[in-house]
Amino acid sequence: MPTRNTEHSVPQYATVTLCPNCDRHHPAPEVQGVIAYFTLNEHISTDEIEGAGQVLSDWARYVAAHPPVYNSDNLDEDIEAWARGEM
Ligand SMILES: [Zn+2]
Repeated sequence: MPTRNTEHSVPQYATVTLCPNCDRHHPAPEVQGVIAYFTLNEHISTDEIEGAGQVLSDWARYVAAHPPVYNSDNLDEDIEAWARGEM
């Protein structure tokens, strides 16, 4: 029996990177929040767990709403940046 695609869900996973250099001009405040947090904090300490949790959950919601797209053009750009020693 044919089923509509909407009747099924498939778990999806995506690896999302965040780089203080490459993403320093990213327009989303959720991205800037994570970069700022880890600029000020080398790691997440127990004293900072609530602040870190807020920043990271804001970022996770942003990523879920704006899933990363990576295509062959992005790969070519990354290869060229790597060859220039920028990665
Ligand atoms: Zn980078």
